[in-house]
Amino acid sequence: MKSLTLFILALIIGYASNAQSVDSVQLMKDVKSLTSGESGVLGNRFTGTRGSWKAQFYITGRFGEMGLQQLYNTYSQPFFFYYKNHKIMGTNLMGYIKGKTNNWIIISAHYDNLKGAPAYAGTDTVFVRHGDNASGVAAMLAMISWFKMHQPQHNLLFVAFDGEQEGLMGSKTFVQGSKALLKETILNINLDQIGSSVNNTLFACGTHQYPKLKSLVETVGDGQNISITFGHDEPGAKDNWVSQSDQRSFNDALIPFIYFGTVENGDPTGSEHIDPAFFYSAAQAILKATINLDKYINVNLPSKNKWIMKENSDSSLSR
Ligand SMILES: [Zn+2]
Repeated sequence: MKSLTLFILALIIGYASNAQSVDSVQLMKDVKSLTSGESGVLGNRFTGTRGSWKAQFYITGRFGEMGLQQLYNTYSQPFFFYYKNHKIMGTNLMGYIKGKTNNWIIISAHYDNLKGAPAYAGTDTVFVRHGDNASGVAAMLAMISWFKMHQPQHNLLFVAFDGEQEGLMGSKTFVQGSKALLKETILNINLDQIGSSVNNTLFACGTHQYPKLKSLVETVGDGQNISITFGHDEPGAKDNWVSQSDQRSFNDALIPFIYFGTVENGDPTGSEHIDPAFFYSAAQAILKATINLDKYINVNLPSKNKWIMKENSDSSLSR
């Protein structure tokens, strides 16, 4: 009887660990590490500063311990740009998991923020905004962990972009320098500000442009106590988010995209800007969406080129 009880217990634990795809403890550890760190420096992640370098060290360290493969024998892709007449070195961080086909899905989240900026950068520097975007990076790390254990259909490239706050500089540079890879890329999934929300709502933006994505994400909030809402992507809409984060660089390059974000809840200047329960649910839902998109996108959608041509023939596209 005792062994039977132990067996049932093992089954329950096994089922629970399989069902609970995102490790909630690691998720919070990652977000806390990126927003404070032992010295507090990691919270200041303005591009090109000491805090940014420490964040890079942390993120590439996590890439390495999870066994993420390097794309060009390194995780770090430095680039230079001018911001307010100052030359800055940004660094995109990336690595991949080999899939079963040759096509790519690019999963992205910017890791820079405005805190710790030098004086020339202006007055926005008081903002801590942990949700923007340590939340997206931590959720992306959770996805790497899951897909390392479950080989995807497509090659998955995970990119932590730098320089987003200065005008999407990291993603623009990446897109300009990755034409060969982008020819084989069928989708960008971008995460930005998913740490808290109003009314437990996670927005999926981009289904106006690519309506066939809708069926693959609309139910991923079920059982997570959050709702997936579509919107913020219609041309001319007052609060259109299409151009407001790194998905814009992919959209401009005619790469289909879906962007997950929220209307953040809470004081943006507060020291704590993460709602752990919502954040965990959002990370879980986005993982489920990514699993669906990776698994079914070729089944439910025409081939990449036909799909892009068809959608781009829609004059309602906002570019
Ligand atoms: Zn952001």
